[in-house]
Amino acid sequence: MRGVLLWCAGMTAATANEPLPPLGQAVTILPGVGPERAAQLARLEIRTLEDLLRHRPARHEDRRHFSPIAGLQLGVPATTRGRVIAHGVKWYQHHTRSIFELILDDGTARLHCRWWNLPFMEKYFAVGQEVIAFGKPVNLKPRTLDHPETEVCENGEEDFIHFNRLTPIYPLTEGLPQRWLRALIWRTLGQFADAIRASGPARALDAAVPALPPRAQAIRWLHFPDDPAQPELARRRLALEEFLALQRRIQLRRQNFTARARARPCAGDNRLIKPFLARLGFTLTGAQTRVLRELRRDMSGAHPMRRLLQGDVGSGKTVVAACCGLMALESGYGVALMAPTEVLAEQHFANFTRWLAPLGVPVELRTGSRKTGAGSPPRAPGLTLGTHALLTAGFALPGLGLVIIDEQHKFGVAQREQLVRKGAYPHLLVMTATPIPRTLGLTLYGDLDISVLDELPPGRGRLQTFVRAPDKRPQVWDFIRGKLAAGRQAYIVYPRVEDAGPGGLKAVTREYAALRQTLAPHRVGLLHGRLPPREKEAVMAAFRARQIHALLATSLIEVGVDVPNATVMLIENAEQFGLAQLHQLRGRIGRGAHDSWCILVAAAQHPEARARLQVLAETTDGFRIAEADLRLRGPGELLGQQQSGLPRFRFGDLAADFDLIQQARELAARQPEA
Ligand code: ADP
Ligand code: MG
Repeated sequence: MRGVLLWCAGMTAATANEPLPPLGQAVTILPGVGPERAAQLARLEIRTLEDLLRHRPARHEDRRHFSPIAGLQLGVPATTRGRVIAHGVKWYQHHTRSIFELILDDGTARLHCRWWNLPFMEKYFAVGQEVIAFGKPVNLKPRTLDHPETEVCENGEEDFIHFNRLTPIYPLTEGLPQRWLRALIWRTLGQFADAIRASGPARALDAAVPALPPRAQAIRWLHFPDDPAQPELARRRLALEEFLALQRRIQLRRQNFTARARARPCAGDNRLIKPFLARLGFTLTGAQTRVLRELRRDMSGAHPMRRLLQGDVGSGKTVVAACCGLMALESGYGVALMAPTEVLAEQHFANFTRWLAPLGVPVELRTGSRKTGAGSPPRAPGLTLGTHALLTAGFALPGLGLVIIDEQHKFGVAQREQLVRKGAYPHLLVMTATPIPRTLGLTLYGDLDISVLDELPPGRGRLQTFVRAPDKRPQVWDFIRGKLAAGRQAYIVYPRVEDAGPGGLKAVTREYAALRQTLAPHRVGLLHGRLPPREKEAVMAAFRARQIHALLATSLIEVGVDVPNATVMLIENAEQFGLAQLHQLRGRIGRGAHDSWCILVAAAQHPEARARLQVLAETTDGFRIAEADLRLRGPGELLGQQQSGLPRFRFGDLAADFDLIQQARELAARQPEA
C-alpha cells in the first residue's frame, strides 16, 4: 500500500502544453497581491485563483445578529461587538510574562478580552474602534473572553462583505488579515464569475448530480452562504469532485492494465483440489466456497485476476489461498506466495508441505535465512513460498501463473508488482486481515476487485476482552496461571519494547526474567524482532508443540500466526496501539474450540484511551473497529505510516463520505474522461 505514494506522484493533472485556464492563473494577477501577500498566501497553499477559491473557511459567523454583551452566557460561544474603551499590557514574573487586555463596551455592558504573552497585539487596536469578538465567556464578573477571535471594523465601502451575513472566517497565517483575505475572495468571486461558471468538466458533473449545487454555486456557498446549511452542501459538491478525480486515475490505471494483459487460463480441473479438500479435516464455510467461486471465475477469464481477499483474522484465508493455488497448479502453472515475516513464511511452508506434498506438488521455501531446493525454482510446476527474499533480482519463477501476497498491507504496491513481473501477467491474489472500512477500501483498492470472507469457521470458542488498570495485574496473573494449568497457552505482548533499540533489548530481557518467575513452573519463551531467524522459528516451533506455555512477544506476532491452543492474550500498555492493530493482535487467540480471553492493560491516567479500548471489549467485528479507529485517529493512523501518501483532500472526508466515494466510483465508470 505504500504504492499509494506512487500513484500520487504522477497526479498533477494539468500538463504544460495546454493553455492555462483562467482560474489556473497566479494570484499575483489580482490587484493588491504583491510579492509579500503572495508569499503569505503560498504558506496557505494558495498559489492560483483556483486555490484561492477553494480556500475553505474554518467556520462561518452569523453577523446578522450580534449578542449584546450583557446577554453573554458563561461557557456559550458567541459573537459580540463593542467599542474599545481601554487597552493595555500588564507584565509580570520579571517581565517574562504578559497579559494584553482590551475592554469593549456596547452600551449594555463591558467585556474584557485577554491574551497571554502576545504583547504585540496592542498595536492592532485603538480606543474608539469598533471590534467584533468571538469566544466563549470564561467569567461573567467581569465578563471575560480569553484569546477571542477579533476583527476591527474599519468602516468603509466594503462593509457589506463583512457584516449582516454569514461571514466566512478563514484559516490565516501570520501577517495576513482576515478582512483583507475575505475581501480578496469576494472580489475574485465577482471578477471571475464567468470563468467559474464556464469550467467544462465541472458542468458535466453538475448535470450528473442534480442533488448537489452546481459548481459555481458551490464555490459561492462555500464562502458566502445565504443560510447555514449551504456550506456543507458546497463541501459535498467539491468533495465529490476530489473523489471523482482520484477514482478516474485509479480506473484508468486498471484499464491500461487490462488492455495490455492476456490471461493464462487457470481454472483447473479439480484433480488436485478434490483430494485436498477430502483430506483437510473440515468443510469449507459458505463464505470460503463463495469466494472460491469468484476466484475461479477470475482465473478462467480473459484478463489476469486482480483481486483482494479481505477476511477478518481467523476467517480462513490460507485454505482459500491453497485452493486458488491448486487451480493454477492443475492448469500447469507455478504459484508464488509471499508473506511479510519469516515466522509466517515458515508457518505457511509447514502447512502447505503437509497439504500439497501428498498430492505430488513440489513446495519450496525462500527466505533470508533458509532456501530449500538449492535455491533453484522447482522443476515441475510447484509452489514457492517466501518473504521479500522472493524479490531478489535474478531469482526466476518460470511458468508463474499466480502470485499470492499474504498480509498485503505489510507490503508496498511496488513490491507486489515486482513479484508479479517475475511472470508474464500472472493472476494476482492479495490478502489482508486489516479490516479496511469500505470508504477507504474503494479509495485504496479501487484497482482491485474485492472478495470478503465474512464468516468465521464454526466450532470456535467465545472470545472475551477486558480492559484492566495496572493495579489489577495480580488477579490477571492468577487468571493466566489457571489457564496454563488447564493446558492452554498464552501470549504476553509488550509494545513498549517493540522497536528494540539497544535500551529496548535490555528491557525485554528484564521483562523476560520477571515473567518466568511470575509464571513458574510454566515455561516461557521469548520472541522479538532482533532474534536471529533460526531462533525465532525454534521458539515458534516449541510454542506450537506446547513445549513452551507462554510466549513473551513484541507485536511481531501480530500477523498470521496460528496456534489454536493459545487462548489467553495479555497486552501491556495497550493504549499505545491503534484499535485496528490491537484487533489484529487479538486475532492470534480465539482460533480453537476453547473459549479465549484478551486482557488489555492500560494505565489509569489515560481515561480517554481506556474508553477507546472499550470499543474492543464491546465488539469483535473488525469492520466496526476499523471504522471507530478511522473516526478517532484518521486514515493515516489506521493504515500506518506508509499511508501518508494518500492524497490530502481539502473537502473530502474519508471517514464520513462513503456515499460520495461510491458515487464517484460509479461516475468514473460512466464518464471515464474528464
Ligand atoms: P486467517 O484468515 O487469519 O489467515 P487462517 O487461514 O490462519 O486464518 O485460519 C485460521 C484457522 O482456521 C486455521 O487453523 C485453519 O486451519 C482453520 N480453518 C480455516 N477454514 C476452516 C473451516 N472451514 N473450518 C474449520 N476450520 C477452518
Ligand atoms: Mg493469515
